[in-house]
Amino acid sequence: MRWSKDGLMEPTCIFEAATLHHSVQVVCRCGHSARFESHGVWWHFTRRGWDDRFGPARKRFWCRVCRSKERKKVHPVKLEPVNWKEGDFELPWPDERRWKEAVRSVR
Ligand SMILES: [Zn+2]
Repeated sequence: MRWSKDGLMEPTCIFEAATLHHSVQVVCRCGHSARFESHGVWWHFTRRGWDDRFGPARKRFWCRVCRSKERKKVHPVKLEPVNWKEGDFELPWPDERRWKEAVRSVR
């Protein structure tokens, strides 16, 4: 976690985004972007042992549009926290016990 210029807490990884109820948005160089509800993304990463910090996490995503146009996996240029909104893509959530354990372990 870090503090922004205007004094707000800013998540630096997917787990922190989830604790703040933010979603994560990935943006491709082609302009395509996608939004994901972050609890589900965190759980997806955790089960695979992937690094969920925003920098390294980018290489786990690729753009659907570029994939179909160029037949290759293009990783997003940006991964950032955004306010959750209706319609954000939801992966399966962790069960409540696993989530609470994770939250407890960082306090
Ligand atoms: Zn793209």
